[in-house]
Amino acid sequence: MRWPSLMPMLAALLLAACASVTNPVSGKRELTVMDERAEIAAGAKAHREVLAEYGVVGDAALQAYVDGVGQKLAAASHRPNLKWTFTVLDSPEVNAFALPGGYVYVTRGIMAYLDSEADLAGVLGHEIGHVTARHGAAGATRQAGAGAAVVGATLLGAIVEATTGIPGLAQAAGGLAEVGAAGLIASYSREQELQADQLGAQYLARVHFNPGNMVDVIQLLGDQERFAAEAARAAGRAPPASGGWLASHPSSDQRLQQIRTTAQQLLAQQPGGWADDGRGRYLQSIDGMTFGDGRAQGVVRGRNFFHEPLGIAITAPQGWRIVNASDSVALINAKGDAGLVLRLVPPEVVRKAGGSHEAVLRQALGATDGRIERLTLGGGLQATHFVGRRRDARGNIRPLDATIASGPRGELFLLGRVAGSAAALERAQPLLREAELSFRPLAGAEIAAARPWRIDLVPLPAGGFAQLARNTPLIELPEQQLRLLNGVYGRQAAPPVGSEVKVVR
Ligand SMILES: [Zn+2]
Repeated sequence: MRWPSLMPMLAALLLAACASVTNPVSGKRELTVMDERAEIAAGAKAHREVLAEYGVVGDAALQAYVDGVGQKLAAASHRPNLKWTFTVLDSPEVNAFALPGGYVYVTRGIMAYLDSEADLAGVLGHEIGHVTARHGAAGATRQAGAGAAVVGATLLGAIVEATTGIPGLAQAAGGLAEVGAAGLIASYSREQELQADQLGAQYLARVHFNPGNMVDVIQLLGDQERFAAEAARAAGRAPPASGGWLASHPSSDQRLQQIRTTAQQLLAQQPGGWADDGRGRYLQSIDGMTFGDGRAQGVVRGRNFFHEPLGIAITAPQGWRIVNASDSVALINAKGDAGLVLRLVPPEVVRKAGGSHEAVLRQALGATDGRIERLTLGGGLQATHFVGRRRDARGNIRPLDATIASGPRGELFLLGRVAGSAAALERAQPLLREAELSFRPLAGAEIAAARPWRIDLVPLPAGGFAQLARNTPLIELPEQQLRLLNGVYGRQAAPPVGSEVKVVR
């Protein structure tokens, strides 16, 4: 009846939901759910989630070094007044990303493969570009709320929920997918990626680094992909689905061509030439950095998984592979259709259950009716196996095949048997049981094997990387891996004999 009077109200509602913001890079007004204040607040909240999910590398000098390089670039960017935060995450994944509001991350995984301060600046400059051009904030406009649902899932529930199908298992192992920030670490469009490259090259030039380093970084990521494919072929595995930076930053010819052109244009405008690429400074700062799996995540050594802080070990059956995620580890069969997921039962869940295996099964996993069996695992660890049905968070009845085991230090662990189908689970049962029975206290020689690997610097010997490969713990294609680490994978070129190169100890 009073229809016309509703119109101003609707308009006011729309205005409240969307703000018009000037894009710092394009200078154009754009409609967004996030004004700058909301952008910073959303970034700060997601930042806490990222830190909790990954942990940070506990090397204050390394953090300060990366922050210094980042701050210099950010000061030369389109948004020098944002409060920028640069963090090295304790993850072996080769990855870098940014959150709206000025939060930029590089993993120690990507840092191992960069070869100079200018390379690092290329990665940081690209990520700064995503922030200055408000790509994440614009992405959030499209997917506002996507992150909240992920955070809402309880940890223990999430793994069982996510791993009832094997595609979910791969996702759970992917790391970022679990982070609530996933909604903000939006997948960028091709145009946004190209723009971030251009901005990264511009920022490099503004701080007097050769923008050609942006090309090197993209080439390096392409090398990573080719190496992963070569290693998979050599081991008779399917080539890995690329994740992290590789998935969102394909090293396409078009991308390389565009960034080369930009670098040449910037070069022409800077006849004075470029500053030193800071290779020495960079290598000094990563000397001794953990390489591959770290102490906090546990390490994969062949078919074994060792976790020194928790004092546990488990062995995958012959031909299986181990996927080590930040808060769980999955032993997956050769066909990839069944696996065993191991994770720590959160202490608050154990407390609530009074430390009882059966109470954890019932309270945390929703076990209803089924068969309970007592087991003694490796080294005498006590466990309770349940096979039957469970009620999930939505009240649906689902199958459950899981074991709760007491660790050597009083913690409880969940060993969940998961598969793509009931038939696949049935086929895998003997080996799933074999894997489960191998769960044991970490002891003896395995304690030394559980020590993480480190980056070390040595002069390149006359025998080159082939000679260095004879003395490295790297297992798969060690010579090629060392070449990849030093930016000469798949090339004839090698640094001069006697020059400092990275090795793994
Ligand atoms: Zn990007």
